[in-house]
Amino acid sequence: MTDKRPKVVVVGAGFAGLQAVKELAGARMDVVLLERQNYHLFQPLLYQVATAGLAPEDIVYPLRAILRDMKNVDFRMTEVQAVDKEKKMVVTDCGEIAYDYLLLAVGATTNFFGLKSVESHAFGLKNVEDAMDIRNHIFRLFELASQQPDPDLRRQMLTFVIAGGGATGVECAGGLAELIHQVLTKDYPGIDFGEVRLVLVEGGSRLLPSFPEPLSRFTAEKLQQKGVEVLFGSMVAEFDGAAITMTDGRQLQTRTLVWAAGVAAEPLAGRLGVETDRLGRVVINQTLQVSDYPEIFIAGDAACLRIDGHPLPMIAPVAVQQAAAAAQNIIRLASGRAPEEFRYKDPGSLATIGRSSGVASLGRWQFRGYFAWVLWLVVHLIRLVGFRNRLLVIINWAWDYFFYERVVRLILR
Ligand SMILES: Cc1cc2nc3c(=O)[nH]c(=O)nc-3n(C[C@H](O)[C@H](O)[C@H](O)COP(=O)(O)OP(=O)(O)OC[C@H]3O[C@@H](n4cnc5c(N)ncnc54)[C@H](O)[C@@H]3O)c2cc1C
Repeated sequence: MTDKRPKVVVVGAGFAGLQAVKELAGARMDVVLLERQNYHLFQPLLYQVATAGLAPEDIVYPLRAILRDMKNVDFRMTEVQAVDKEKKMVVTDCGEIAYDYLLLAVGATTNFFGLKSVESHAFGLKNVEDAMDIRNHIFRLFELASQQPDPDLRRQMLTFVIAGGGATGVECAGGLAELIHQVLTKDYPGIDFGEVRLVLVEGGSRLLPSFPEPLSRFTAEKLQQKGVEVLFGSMVAEFDGAAITMTDGRQLQTRTLVWAAGVAAEPLAGRLGVETDRLGRVVINQTLQVSDYPEIFIAGDAACLRIDGHPLPMIAPVAVQQAAAAAQNIIRLASGRAPEEFRYKDPGSLATIGRSSGVASLGRWQFRGYFAWVLWLVVHLIRLVGFRNRLLVIINWAWDYFFYERVVRLILR
């Protein structure tokens, strides 16, 4: 073994990249973290930025502040364009960087499934810009609707459609329903809120398909009580910015479509030139390495790891656990030991439907209602990075809970 310290390049500082860097901090190796943003984003609370419950600053944390005590970690804000697997180099927009080990943790992007009109006119919900665009758009539409004399145009402005009945779609629908019916009703006395329509479209036959069926039913009922129409069995086929055409031919006159119907791996994963699945995720082996390239590890949403033939879901616990295991395997390889197989420990699933209502599926246990909601609050607070952010989020949630108010209501741009 030589004295030369191995160089590990980690791409992406989301859930996986950040966890990997924490594991590698202090190890006898030089780590370079490459990320196109200068902050870590807590995506599970993005919908609250979109629905004005939180400010973007509450759910992001500056990377340099997180990394300042990790002496063997060097951060560079840059976008990685390509990986040269043979030369063991990543190509960034600031030049090439060589590696001995590479951990790709680039996450996912919105998947419009090739629907060009939808991609042009709908809102994704994957980053801070998306969430801010949705928030600005909703408030602008209420301002416009409050001055619009034509009832058809007004109803079109006041119809909000969310596609996708997974956790993101459900949480977004619940958050939007509460913003509209508990807060905006006070701000716009001139608007007839009977004209407001909030629609959640799900192509399958139930919401939250990864949860047990009774929890799916409970979720649909709760959303309906909050004024959300839930449409099953039909999908969005087209959206021109003024009307949605569904696959069954139905039309919805609306200016708002929030697309929570799918994600696919970031394009960089596909550019690696190795086997990918239908969502563009890199197929990896049980030690989280790429076949034929044992020095390349993939973790999180960009990875396709099949357990008993089924890929692990694109969720934060998978990303965090994979990243920790990949980092430990890098340390093992660097010290001449064999990598270990990854074992996923499923911590269960949680989703909130809004105020005092959530669902939780924890192994054999299922919870619905208030307890599941409190559990959701606690877990998300614990996972959020930074004490100040946690404090701000608690204050905002409490303000919202006790006063039926949303703190962030300005229209920007
Ligand atoms: C709205 C929303 C709600 C969600 N809610 C939940 C939830 O409640 N519970 C749950 O478990 N999961 C949830 N998820 C999923 C969860 O956020 C992801 O599974 C998790 O973020 C994956 O972690 P990751 O590190 O693989 O990717 P990410 O966290 O997406 O991080 C990837 C990072 O890589 C960076 N990057 C990408 N490409 C490049 C490049 N070429 N060069 C440099 N940097 C690059 C990105 O900027 C990003 O910071 C939600 C996701 C969304 C979008």
